[in-house]
Amino acid sequence: MTQPQTQSQTQSPAQNNRPAAKSRDKRTDLVGLSRNELGELLKDMGEPAFRTKQLWHWIYHRGETDFAKMTTIAKSMRETLSEQCVIRRPEISLEQTSRDKARKWLFAFPDGNEAETVFIPEDDRGAVCISCQVGCSLTCTFCHTGTMGLVRNLSAGEIVGQFMAARDSYGEWPSPSGTRLLSNIVMMGMGEPLINFDNVSKALKIIMDGEGIAISKRRITLSTSGLVPMMDRCGSELGVNLAVSLHAVTDQLRDVLVPINKKYPLKELLAACRRYPSANNARRITFEYVMLRGINDSPADARELLRMVKGIPVKFNLIPFNPWPGAPYQCSHADDIKRFSEILNDGGFSAPIRVPRGRDILAACGQLKSASTRDLDRLRAESQQRKAARETQHASTS
Ligand code: SAH
Ligand code: SF4
Repeated sequence: MTQPQTQSQTQSPAQNNRPAAKSRDKRTDLVGLSRNELGELLKDMGEPAFRTKQLWHWIYHRGETDFAKMTTIAKSMRETLSEQCVIRRPEISLEQTSRDKARKWLFAFPDGNEAETVFIPEDDRGAVCISCQVGCSLTCTFCHTGTMGLVRNLSAGEIVGQFMAARDSYGEWPSPSGTRLLSNIVMMGMGEPLINFDNVSKALKIIMDGEGIAISKRRITLSTSGLVPMMDRCGSELGVNLAVSLHAVTDQLRDVLVPINKKYPLKELLAACRRYPSANNARRITFEYVMLRGINDSPADARELLRMVKGIPVKFNLIPFNPWPGAPYQCSHADDIKRFSEILNDGGFSAPIRVPRGRDILAACGQLKSASTRDLDRLRAESQQRKAARETQHASTS
């Protein structure tokens, strides 16, 4: 869920005046390698198998990025690692924290492409919303990202890197064994995770590994527009919570709102939900439903929704439409959203209305991407100034 790029953002990295940061660094980035791949790499360096576990622990449990500080590893190996490898984070192009404490980053990757990540805190925990693609090839008509097409898939390292950089920002290392602030992950940023499934799957397996970041599958939710065959694979391979962007109760309307519906219509989508392996009463599938004025928000739609989901363990999430310049829809009236929610509640389902967070920093996912070039340049400059001020303060106190 994100908004289209402004003119400057659709330029290629070489044109957009942003440095392709570390693209000349030919060292291997260790972030995003599976455990097996890391083991193979160390084997090629002549290191014994147990080193893999040690290095994994430093990278993903301790969050260390400097090989020199990995004191349990022999000095000679640390030197070889520094020469040949790197533990990379995406560069922060922009960071903002809203009055209600939502934090948003625009991360830049070595080729100059950028993606958004948002942290939404609750009382003593919170969810990080991660992107899996720059742009998206599925042209959902209410989604700003859908208007920009696919620029490219993010690699497993770039997906894990967003979460690690968010943890850096809160200093949440080593990975806490008890309560965590960054406790949950939602794959609801830019892009369709089931289209970039190999990289998303690799990234989530790294994140779920019990000897590293160790976030359980119960705390991870993947949102899809409904790529039916990949839903089965997602269930068997990852077993994470599933959210389905439903948005309509008839194929006729869903074909327009979510065009992938023409390939995988509602009947097939609902059947895939019924057989999703980890779905049960305790772990329900979330049906996301964007509220579009006069389009899908009538009481009759709500009643049809209740009829459709019979026998599927679901809960609903009603999302007030987040408008963007030139969007062909408007958000439903608050009263209509409330009535819709009440009908679902009366039918025995949870149907909270998503509260927009971080309005003052454009934190609704995708909004940074729709800020004007001038606004974005100003926001970037302010963010750099804050960073410089923090560094000066840090230097003077240490
Ligand atoms: N591609 C995946 C995940 C990213 S979109 C998917 O479609 O599920 C995350 C959620 O944001 C989806 O439910 C999507 O339908 C919703 N969304 C996209 N644009 C939106 C907008 N302008 N206002 C409200 N919700 C939107
Ligand atoms: Fe947007 Fe649709 Fe792509 Fe999701 S699948 S990011 S809603 S265009």
